[in-house]
Amino acid sequence: MDAPTGGGEDDAALAALRQRIDALPPLREILAAEGMTAKKSLGQHFLFDFNLTDKIARTARMPGAPTDAPLAGQTVVEVGPGPGGLTRSLLKAGAHVIAVEKDARAATILAPLEDAAAGRLTVHITDALTADWTAIAPEGAIICSNLPYNVATPLLVGWLTKGSWPSWWANATIMVQREVANRITAAPTSEAYGRLGVLAGVRAHTESVFDIAPSAFVPPPKVWSSVVRLDPKPDAARVPIGALSQVTAAAFGQRRKMLRSSLKALTKTPEALLSAADIAPTERAEQLSLDAFVRLAEIYASEGRGQ
Ligand code: SAM
Repeated sequence: MDAPTGGGEDDAALAALRQRIDALPPLREILAAEGMTAKKSLGQHFLFDFNLTDKIARTARMPGAPTDAPLAGQTVVEVGPGPGGLTRSLLKAGAHVIAVEKDARAATILAPLEDAAAGRLTVHITDALTADWTAIAPEGAIICSNLPYNVATPLLVGWLTKGSWPSWWANATIMVQREVANRITAAPTSEAYGRLGVLAGVRAHTESVFDIAPSAFVPPPKVWSSVVRLDPKPDAARVPIGALSQVTAAAFGQRRKMLRSSLKALTKTPEALLSAADIAPTERAEQLSLDAFVRLAEIYASEGRGQ
């Protein structure tokens, strides 16, 4: 059953915050007033439709969260707030938001929203690719972002593989190119199955939740986007992730080749490694299950490699 919001003062504060946000000028007007045009180099495709941004924000809720304030009491990390459309939805859903944006122009654009948020929005103008997440985000934070296409994969790989596990993030709802979403959620033997699918699948339950057409964005991108949700698997802590990262890089580096050949990038004796993992040397990377990749990584790590 959904929990109540906490009632009383909390409800009143959230209602007042929503009123202040709704009173802000439309996003298009704010951008025009500041003369902020989209930069292709930063993957800027903005969402102005609040029905859509509300839907993305709702997707990030934890199980049992109240439906009328789905992010109440949660801290949400948003990479690339841009003009702040999704940021508005996250705040109105009850979240405290930590926004990380590379484009310094966003500091001015987001200032009125920061005022309206009255302490619930912190903006860091910095590159998300080099951010120190454990310093920026509290333990248990939720990630919710319309990610810039050019950095989505390295960012996600970092969140899946760097630091201790379980990681600082409790779940992640990210909008990415549909092709990237297909790779994140891909099953073995499918065309989209690759290193990203193995790393994501080993560490999290992944689900493609809904698609968004190019026409929803300003300016429209060339391709469709998808919203993907990742819920971390706590028991994935036992997986030697450095070794898994190296094994998958070698195996999918030459995905059409048999593993006895592609794993030569990793070891001089691929057949011994495969035999110890109970995998036929004639198999190809795209045929291996997640469990088989974990076995390979464990044996590789047990030889003192892949740290
Ligand atoms: N959240 C906004 C929305 O939905 O309308 C904007 C999303 S836009 C697809 C991606 C945003 O990420 C842009 O604001 C862009 O400036 C920002 N960005 C691009 N590269 C970045 C990086 N390395 N670190 C942080 N932000 C970045």
